[in-house]
Amino acid sequence: KNPIHVIGAGMAGSEAAWQIAQAGIPVILHEMRPVQKTDAHQTDFFAELVCSNSFRSDDAEYNAVGLLHEEMRRCGSLILTAADTHKVPAGGALAVDRDHFAEHVTATLTSHPLVTVERGEVAGIPPEDWDNTIIATGPLTSMKLAEAIRAFTGEEQLSFFDAIAPIIHTDSIDLSKAWFQSRYDKVGPGGTGKDYINCAMDKEQYQAFIQALIDGEKGDFKEWEKNTPYFEGCLPIEVMAERGVDTLRYGPMKPVGLTNPHEGKRPYAVVQLRQDNALGTLYNLVGFQTKLKYAEQVRVFRMIPGLENAEFARLGGLHRNTFINSPRLLDGSLRLKAMPRLRFAGQITGCEGYVESAAVGLMAGRFAAADRLGSEPSLPPRTTALGALLAHITGGAEAETFQPMNVNFGLFPPVTERQPNGKELHGKDRKKAYSTRALRDLAGWLEGGEGQAVQ
Ligand code: FAD
Repeated sequence: KNPIHVIGAGMAGSEAAWQIAQAGIPVILHEMRPVQKTDAHQTDFFAELVCSNSFRSDDAEYNAVGLLHEEMRRCGSLILTAADTHKVPAGGALAVDRDHFAEHVTATLTSHPLVTVERGEVAGIPPEDWDNTIIATGPLTSMKLAEAIRAFTGEEQLSFFDAIAPIIHTDSIDLSKAWFQSRYDKVGPGGTGKDYINCAMDKEQYQAFIQALIDGEKGDFKEWEKNTPYFEGCLPIEVMAERGVDTLRYGPMKPVGLTNPHEGKRPYAVVQLRQDNALGTLYNLVGFQTKLKYAEQVRVFRMIPGLENAEFARLGGLHRNTFINSPRLLDGSLRLKAMPRLRFAGQITGCEGYVESAAVGLMAGRFAAADRLGSEPSLPPRTTALGALLAHITGGAEAETFQPMNVNFGLFPPVTERQPNGKELHGKDRKKAYSTRALRDLAGWLEGGEGQAVQ
């Protein structure tokens, strides 16, 4: 059989190559590192985790990403096998030893008899004799390939920013001013009602802070970064400040549900910090993603009462993300409508996160293998986490406002099950109903049942 080409050995490309090889089809896996580096990857390994080492919640009953883990396990996922093999303690989350994890994926693929690895950049639309190709080049797709895709698809600029909030060492926070409390003392799963550290501001402090954000020196935007749209849900803090003096007080700095025990009153505005590591030694500034220069971040964020002596483990930033307008460009099995020999997978399709990227890689690999074997790709049912994610990317989302998305139960068709009194299910019961239905329908699909095409 002719090989299938997979471009990019990240989370998606590695999983896709594995699924193809497991279907008995040869695959050529093209990875540009180390010949050409990205701005975030540090090693030559496949499936390198560029930032956090967490795959998020592993709760398959009540959490959509935990459910996605379980579905991937049942599909024989290499990424999940490697993650389970190299997991580290992280409460209810699935977190991994990043080096051992990536080594596992790399060694498994390079030693597979059906996998050939070619190191080097694919710098344009692949040649015609690559008749079945998966592009899984991720958020940091090389500029040459990104430009070629954009020129071909005729879509507008496809790159924009993701935003990172600063992280602070907990022991540098002044708890004689700040305090632990969750909004409305809400106790979440595994929580205490005191999950956040809060820093209160009075009116004067707040207004000075807003002005400092507006006046602070910002980092330069590179030529290609100009005119790229921000995520509305992930706006830099200074962009929000520029929108109006009260924008932050109605956004990440809203004072509701919190009482400052040091003063016994509701604050005018609040900065919240959320635990960032299992040890509790790091907290991040919630909603404070920023393009302020590093020195400015230190100066401006130390104006926050309780953070006067804050030590920063990591400062905020914005990073590039590359994705295509999948709902418009792709068909139901992730093929480029205008050139069906090309299929897309991973974050470049507009999913978000390690797990989702690997999941889309898993599906793309299976679909490409089916094509090569001359059969119609069978799509996972929409009621599964895999199917819900696929449907969102390939048709469920609005093309006009398409934005990268994590898997969540909001993408699933509503459950029809009811409470004994005839009312709709709520809360945990509802989540459990989604998961039960998903795993039941996944089993049917894996046994050969057909899913519903979205197009
Ligand atoms: P990647 O894993 O990036 O893999 C793409 C691969 O393609 C890379 O190995 C790259 O070298 C290669 N490549 C690119 N262009 C070419 C080319 N032209 N030819 C050949 N090879 C090429 N997600 C999370 O879940 N948690 C996080 O904490 C997190 N933090 C992030 C921080 C940063 C700075 C960035 C950029 C992203 C972060 N993400 C995070 C998103 C995460 O990177 C993706 O969800 C995931 O890695 C995407 O998987 P992928 O396979 O699509 O891309």
